[in-house]
Amino acid sequence: MIRLSEVGKTYPDGTVAVQELDLEVGRGEMVCLVGPSGCGKSTTLKMINRLIEPTTGRIFLDGADVTDADPVQLRRGIGYVIQQIGLFPHQRVVTNVMTVPLLYGESKATARQRALELLETVGLDPATFADRYPHQLSGGQRQRVGVARALAANPPVLLMDEPFGAVDPVVRTKLQDEFLRVQRELGKTVVLVTHDIDEAVRMGDRVAVFAAGGRLAQYATPEELLAR
Ligand code: ADP
Ligand code: ADP
Repeated sequence: MIRLSEVGKTYPDGTVAVQELDLEVGRGEMVCLVGPSGCGKSTTLKMINRLIEPTTGRIFLDGADVTDADPVQLRRGIGYVIQQIGLFPHQRVVTNVMTVPLLYGESKATARQRALELLETVGLDPATFADRYPHQLSGGQRQRVGVARALAANPPVLLMDEPFGAVDPVVRTKLQDEFLRVQRELGKTVVLVTHDIDEAVRMGDRVAVFAAGGRLAQYATPEELLAR
């Protein structure tokens, strides 16, 4: 579904962020990119949806080179969840989650119903949270709204950068489990960036371990990693 072939990225200031990266993510698979800060994980994610252009190599989505795709069209099929998720501050939580489906022409009633279900899915009781504004949420709650909003657009591919980073440890485990269930159920293809090896091993069908200098040190299943 997603294939990176000898991808490299050197920023204009000379920083080498990613080198000679080969990676394949199958349909419905969750791949976790893990490694210390600054080793090129976020850069890799952003190259897949073309927020950043690679310096070398090629990236394919469903067999087509993403360089040939219209970026707007490309991003319709790719949900992007980041920690500093930009919720619309003047819209209620439920409206934030409904935005993209409404843009795509879904009826208000259907979009609202689905948004309420998704809030439930990410562990936010709709009765409590649907009508709040983003500033009335904790950081972790805002992040969950971000996840719900990405799911609402129903893209086949989700790119997630530290999606559970701001959540406290107990809630994080619950949220990881819930997200895994949703991902399996909906058959989403996911690339998830985390600095937390436990999260990567827990969530990933496969784990890509990045090393300093943006090189791939290992690409293996959690079982293979734990056996080493
Ligand atoms: P990670 O997500 O693993 O923390 P990043 O992909 O964010 O790593 O960054 C990889 C390297 O590229 C780091 O050295 C970082 O400082 C550098 N970097 C990231 N963005 C830019 C940029 N816009 N310009 C120059 N260097 C950058
Ligand atoms: P965190 O420690 O996760 O940052 P906060 O201290 O921001 O959490 O919030 C704690 C609780 O108070 C959360 O359940 C959040 O939803 C609620 N809360 C925060 N700000 C408001 C507000 N302005 N109105 C109503 N509830 C709020």
